[in-house]
Amino acid sequence: MSEIANPFEQLQQGRPTGPLVQGYEVIIGFETHAQLSTASKIFSRASTAFGAEPNTQASPVDLALPGTLPVMNKGAVERAIKLGLALGSTIAPRSVFARKNYFYPDLPKGYQISQYEIPVVQGGSVSFYVGDEARTVRLVRAHLEEDAGKSLHEDFIGQSGIDLNRAGTPLLEIVTEPDMRSTAEAVAYAKELHKIVTWIGICDGNMQEGSFRCDANVSVRRPGQPLGTRREIKNLNSFRFMQQAIDYEIRWQIEQLEDGHAIEQATVLFDPDTGETRAMRTKEDAADYRYFPDPDLPPLTIAPEWIEQVKAQMPELPRAMAERYQREFGLPAYDADLLTQSQAHARYFEAAVAAGASPKLASNWIQGEIARRLNAQEDLSIDNAPVSARQLGQLIVRIGDGTVSNNAARQVFDALWSGEGSEVDAVIEAKGLKQVNDTGALEKIIEDVLANNQKNIDEYRAGKEKAFNALVGQVMKASAGKANPAQVNALLKSKLG
Ligand code: ADP
Ligand code: MG
Repeated sequence: MSEIANPFEQLQQGRPTGPLVQGYEVIIGFETHAQLSTASKIFSRASTAFGAEPNTQASPVDLALPGTLPVMNKGAVERAIKLGLALGSTIAPRSVFARKNYFYPDLPKGYQISQYEIPVVQGGSVSFYVGDEARTVRLVRAHLEEDAGKSLHEDFIGQSGIDLNRAGTPLLEIVTEPDMRSTAEAVAYAKELHKIVTWIGICDGNMQEGSFRCDANVSVRRPGQPLGTRREIKNLNSFRFMQQAIDYEIRWQIEQLEDGHAIEQATVLFDPDTGETRAMRTKEDAADYRYFPDPDLPPLTIAPEWIEQVKAQMPELPRAMAERYQREFGLPAYDADLLTQSQAHARYFEAAVAAGASPKLASNWIQGEIARRLNAQEDLSIDNAPVSARQLGQLIVRIGDGTVSNNAARQVFDALWSGEGSEVDAVIEAKGLKQVNDTGALEKIIEDVLANNQKNIDEYRAGKEKAFNALVGQVMKASAGKANPAQVNALLKSKLG
């Protein structure tokens, strides 16, 4: 019996023990398949568009017809370079395509073209927060490969079919070290990676359509023990399922061990209906795939000049942008993080500030009113929000200069959101929401209120703060919400002596 050293073992030594679950430490590593957003496939000119009639986007190359040869799509390589630059990885000057041999009906060639010994992206890391704790997960690699087709099981006619539209869609498989120590950390990692690939525009991130699929490798061990045997949960295509599946898997493994059973290495599927993971097959070893370099494709060479060109087109990354927001706008880290959750959010925020809004108020509105409404309406995103960033900016300016109260501003916002009017000032005018800043008019209202609320006056003089607030409320009501609250306060105080 030969002892095969686990290559991850060494890397794990000297790392702090993670939080324990029933006395066990949880170890998680991720393999993520990101579909690259090229118009055509990785080795053919067929379209990659989602949702076409089955087999209408499968070219002779994708069908593996004899005599066809793969030709590398430069756009896929460029996207791999972008990921490497974003994650601080090494971009291999020369990498090699290999054949991964296995039989499955959705794989007409009988092998998948992938990268094995020399992947295009090597090392790097993803940094993110779990709550307010900073974490870094190291990457092993990211390699280019082709997607397989899809088996469609048509239960209602009792038949299965093969759709090869997806065959040959470019994928980047992004593999981490087993660095994660809890479900929360794993989900936070996946969210951060998702944010990065969509941010740099290499993947549309649509999890429902399978553009971003995560496999979670999970094991448990007693603290200080060698790594336990892992099981790999395949194809987690929503963050919610990811959390449920990993939580279930951890509990299941601990239960097995507590009952005296060993964990067998396996590939498992998560069933959202039962909330359980189920073994699909025992895990193949690399040897089963009989990897060898693909003779149909030359090694992939990437010149330093190409990397420099790509670097010049890279957008500012979310973390750098969040740090800049804290510096430039004096925002708390929490706000800066939320505003950089997507390029669209950042664009919206910056446009509102450019329209004159105070950065903190713009941030509050985006987190508050806007987030609430976007959550309620699935078809809307901040990109196509009915209130534009410019409108929000102008509205915030009108709060700042005392034209409208916060309450009135919300009414203006409602009106804009439902499409009543488009110019902030015109809506304020039309709805009669201008704040009463005219001291004379206010004094008149206050005198009326004081004349009719002797009880509150007496209580206030007897030292009851609440009575003062009641008076402010009366004045606001009498002004139909249009009085400037700060001014009301000041005038009331002076009148009550
Ligand atoms: P394969 O390609 O056969 O799935 P790898 O050795 O490349 O296997 O590892 C795949 C993933 O499994 C990596 O993300 C790695 O971090 C993770 N992993 C390896 N060992 C463990 C372990 N004991 N527990 C949890 N995850 C692990
Ligand atoms: Mg794997």
